[in-house]
Amino acid sequence: GAMERENSVMRQRMGFGTLAVHGGQKLDPITRSCLTPIYQTASYVFRDCAHGARLFTGEEEGDIYSRISNPTCSAFEDRMAVLEDGSAAVAAASGQAAMAYSVLAIASHGDHVVAASNLYGGTYSFLASTLKRFGVGVTFVPPNDLDALNRAITPRTRAVYGETIGNPALDVLDLEGTASVAHSRRIPLIIDNTFATPYLCRPFEYGADIVVHSATKYICGHGSSIGGVVVDSGRFDWTSGNFPEFTSPELGTGGSSWVDRFGEAAYAEKVRAQMVKDLGGCLAPFNAFLFLMGLETLHVRMERHCSNAQAVAEYLASHPGVQWVRYPGLEGDPSNLLARKCLKGGFGAMIAFGVKGGLEASRTFADSVELIMLLANLGDTRSLVVHPATTTHHELTPEQRQASGISDDLLRLSVGIEDANDIIDDVDRALRAAVRE
Ligand code: PLP
Repeated sequence: GAMERENSVMRQRMGFGTLAVHGGQKLDPITRSCLTPIYQTASYVFRDCAHGARLFTGEEEGDIYSRISNPTCSAFEDRMAVLEDGSAAVAAASGQAAMAYSVLAIASHGDHVVAASNLYGGTYSFLASTLKRFGVGVTFVPPNDLDALNRAITPRTRAVYGETIGNPALDVLDLEGTASVAHSRRIPLIIDNTFATPYLCRPFEYGADIVVHSATKYICGHGSSIGGVVVDSGRFDWTSGNFPEFTSPELGTGGSSWVDRFGEAAYAEKVRAQMVKDLGGCLAPFNAFLFLMGLETLHVRMERHCSNAQAVAEYLASHPGVQWVRYPGLEGDPSNLLARKCLKGGFGAMIAFGVKGGLEASRTFADSVELIMLLANLGDTRSLVVHPATTTHHELTPEQRQASGISDDLLRLSVGIEDANDIIDDVDRALRAAVRE
């Protein structure tokens, strides 16, 4: 039956591809639809007042209102939790919401966060300016400078934040080293795993405690919708005394505490109740459906993404018109050794490079591509290019961009799953245009 099927996929911990296709699915009991349906509804009918009351107190499990939970979104959350090998996941309206909620759930006025300096521009500006307005201080440290990280942590530091592969300079984070410094100070490590996806890296295996994703990217995979997710490893010890709000009653814990009531899903349920429910950035069920579809082919797409990117990176590295290339899969790349340690099955599909001739030549390249699309997104089946200094990271000061490794000539290429030769032909055409001018 349906239950046995669901349990057997999970119990046997089948391979990644099987979990990507089946993980988290509960067969709809009425239609037995083979895909998780889009439950396009705002609300759910109570059997009677007493039932409604039990749902609200948590005595009985069930959906109440789609800002809090929705069966299509739940299937997406459960599949993400399974793929990241976490205890629970909470979907959000965007990767940006997931990132912000992951921090705001545990940082209050007067608290502090330490973050790697090489982050997505939107994350950087949230941490550096918006979060500051709410009284949470941030110290940025160079990725993998573990001494600087340790020095930056104060008694009020609530989290360490980093990206598996930094956007866009592509430095791979020493997850184990970063986690061990954070844990030595009893602080959780939050990792944005968007660029790697759980197919290439599962940060919990290296000690991370919380993972966030922009699902807009490889999880969706087709550039069709915006969304995000926070995944809880269930392994961080919230009872160390450093996080008293987890061990005493709060609004939403029903007289108990997050840890007593939800166990290893304590953090996830706090994110759901205090962030998604109270701040309101929930995922739409239609987008959750598209993400479930995207996840079904994640393992297949990532293989092609990675092999294409390796070919394009090697081509760029050998091209006389190219000033420099960063790709974790290139031998001799500053991140190659760490990438070999943390990434399994490929090195991702993001490439950073500069064209000989500097800023103008790089911009001419971006203006000259025909197949590759010039736009601000990544992780799509289509190959995409962007000039971060004037777009995704334009809010940073020149000094902040330098600290993030973003030179003015840097182009960020998101290699798609087209035929590698066609991508390379387009790169070659644009390089000839850029170097000629
Ligand atoms: N994290 C990373 C690494 C990103 O690249 C992005 C978006 O570009 C985000 C988070 C934000 O996600 P979203 O655009 O889905 O809000």
